[in-house]
Amino acid sequence: MFKPWAGRPFSSLLARLPSQCVVCRAWPAEPVCEACVARFAPPVPRCRTCALPVAPGSALCGDCLLHPPPLDACLAACAYAWPWPECIAEFKFRGDAGRAAPLATLLRNAPWVEPALEQADLVLPMPLAPARLRERGFNQAHELARRLDAAKCDPGLLVRTRETPPQSGLDRRQRLRSLRDAFAVEPTRASALHGRRLVLVDDVMTSGASLFAAARVLRAGGAAHITAIVLARTDLPA
Ligand SMILES: [Zn+2]
Ligand SMILES: [Zn+2]
Repeated sequence: MFKPWAGRPFSSLLARLPSQCVVCRAWPAEPVCEACVARFAPPVPRCRTCALPVAPGSALCGDCLLHPPPLDACLAACAYAWPWPECIAEFKFRGDAGRAAPLATLLRNAPWVEPALEQADLVLPMPLAPARLRERGFNQAHELARRLDAAKCDPGLLVRTRETPPQSGLDRRQRLRSLRDAFAVEPTRASALHGRRLVLVDDVMTSGASLFAAARVLRAGGAAHITAIVLARTDLPA
């Protein structure tokens, strides 16, 4: 595949002019230019509740038919495939506004994301554990969420009570156990969820176990409708 930036480190790839495409550096262009969205983030039919690719015309994947996840809807802007893992890694390491904004724009322009945001009462970023937040200095999900809707973004309502080990390599039962009690609703604000429509934002969705665990807590807290919105989705069940 043609790589116009071959040989350039990704740190310089994203150090771009404001009107330069974050991927191909076309200029002047949108933060992620139309050609790159068409090429690297084409809309594909995705499962309504977990965003895995499905055959055209199918609403749900086989896994969601067997084990319906606690989400009403799940939307993904792109596959977790080149060039997005590199872009997202840079964003996580650096986290400055110039890097978050183009990725938030990509997410906002994905099918059905705008209507989901319009209908939502609250936009909640997936929280990091306090120790991880201190170490990284920012929460990448919050950086995306506040750019999607600053007025509805509520980063303090859903909290992460502890760090959890990586979910890869665990089976479904082990993931559920590992994530038990990992999320909670801020105790002083328990009533804030009652009857609310929520959008839950994360950067990458792999197995979905963390999003599902958070959604269960929100549902138990009274949320009426939960849509997960993720930047990149791994295309194989993890
Ligand atoms: Zn481009
Ligand atoms: Zn599914």
